[in-house]
Amino acid sequence: MLIVFDLDDTLFHSSDQMRYETRWQDVKNITPFTGVHEFLRTFPARKILLTWETDQGLQDEKINTLGIRHFFEEVIICSSNQEKKECLARIKQKYSREEICVVGDRIDAEIQFGNELGMKTVRLQYGKYREMMPQHVFQQAHHTISQFSQLRGLLE
Ligand SMILES: [Mg+2]
Repeated sequence: MLIVFDLDDTLFHSSDQMRYETRWQDVKNITPFTGVHEFLRTFPARKILLTWETDQGLQDEKINTLGIRHFFEEVIICSSNQEKKECLARIKQKYSREEICVVGDRIDAEIQFGNELGMKTVRLQYGKYREMMPQHVFQQAHHTISQFSQLRGLLE
C-alpha cells in the first residue's frame, strides 16, 4: 500500500495554528496532530506527502517544523490545487503496482481527485473544511474519520 497524505488540516491543525497575517511567524510553532509521528514511523506502508503552496517556501517550513520530512519517500509541492490532480495521476503511473490510498481534508481537492483516479480515499473531517458537503459522487470519500488517530484502525 502507498498512502498519499495532504499536509494542512491533515497532519496538523493548520486552520487553528496559523493565521494568514502572521503565517511566517506562526509556522515556527506548529505541532502535528496526536499520533502523526508514531503512525508515519511505524505503519507498514509507503508514504508520500503531496501539498500545494500559496507562498514560496512556506510548505517546506511547515514540514521542517513538524519534523516529518524523513518519513516520506517523496515530498511533492505543487503550485496550485489543480496541479495536485496531475501529481496524483503521475503517482498512479509511477507506483502502478501499489494500492494507493489518499488521505486529506478537502473533498473538493485531494478526495475528489483521488476518487476520479480510482484510488481509495479517506477524509479527515476536521478543520476549516469539515462542514463541506459533497456536491457529487466523486466528492464522497470511501471512509471518513474525525481524528487522525483513527487512521490506523481503518487501514489495518
Ligand atoms: Mg488540507
